[in-house]
Amino acid sequence: MFIKMCANLRGDGRKAGQDLRFFGCLFFKTVLYLVRMVDFESVLIKHKFKYKKSLGQNFIFDESILDEIAECGGADGSTVVEIGTGAGSLTRAIAARAKRVCSFEIDETLFPVLEDTLAGFDNIQLFSNDVTAIGIETVDMLIGEPYKVIANLPYYITTPLIFLFLRSELCGSITCLVQKEVAERICAESGGDFGALSAAVQAVAEPKIIRKVKSWDFYPQPDVDSAVIRLDRKPGAMLSDGLDAFFKLCFSAKRKTLVNNLTTAGIDKSEVTAALQKLGFKPAARAEELGAAGLKALAEALGRA
Ligand code: SAM
Repeated sequence: MFIKMCANLRGDGRKAGQDLRFFGCLFFKTVLYLVRMVDFESVLIKHKFKYKKSLGQNFIFDESILDEIAECGGADGSTVVEIGTGAGSLTRAIAARAKRVCSFEIDETLFPVLEDTLAGFDNIQLFSNDVTAIGIETVDMLIGEPYKVIANLPYYITTPLIFLFLRSELCGSITCLVQKEVAERICAESGGDFGALSAAVQAVAEPKIIRKVKSWDFYPQPDVDSAVIRLDRKPGAMLSDGLDAFFKLCFSAKRKTLVNNLTTAGIDKSEVTAALQKLGFKPAARAEELGAAGLKALAEALGRA
């Protein structure tokens, strides 16, 4: 790039000016990012905070990424639930736009940090509960009104957390950072990536990848890249335990036909074949051939939804 820029300085003056502006802007952004990171890091150091890999503590301090997540998540004027407050960097971006933010963080050593970083916001409620332990009914009761989830999720419980909120009566959308491969599996409509996870999410929500985020945008840096996804709940659609379990059965052995997978699990073969034919699928179909909507219709036909 540098060599190309020097060549441009000699050749096309206008292009060289653009390059200089680009590098100037990049330099300014880098300085801003470093200042901001030092800002958060100094508070974390002041409170002797130690990052815990076991809790998926990979924080983001880049304001442009945080603002984009808050905006794409529809924080403006909304009630937002965040899972994993961390040092409060995303919480601040959400709180600047939202009516109310309810943020859950299980690492209590972060609470003194958050007293500093979230000072001045009066629309943030912090909870120390583990939402996977208290259950979605309790979360919905605590929030008490329709809400959106916006979060940089801890990787070790990404799928259970997404499934939890797809069972909520009040959650309208989920916008979150997840491992890039998980995002691709969630959004896949066919092929090798399409599986029980894709079917479960797509049966009740419209998923979309908003943007990719590189591993170096996190601190500490994880081993993998990530992506921001947004899942919009389909009106009235809710993931039930029965539907979730049914999708897992359908994909229990990916190379086998759907009839084989379901009969191995004890479902009557003639019932499955008849339901498939009634829905317009061939009896030897594999699960991925039905897509999320077809598998949901089959679950309903077999009384498993
Ligand atoms: N939101 C911050 C950010 O973007 O920088 C932190 C995100 S970090 C990937 C995930 C956070 O979730 C960590 O602070 C971790 O302690 C917290 N966490 C882990 N398991 C949790 C759970 N079961 N409930 C709530 N928070 C949890």
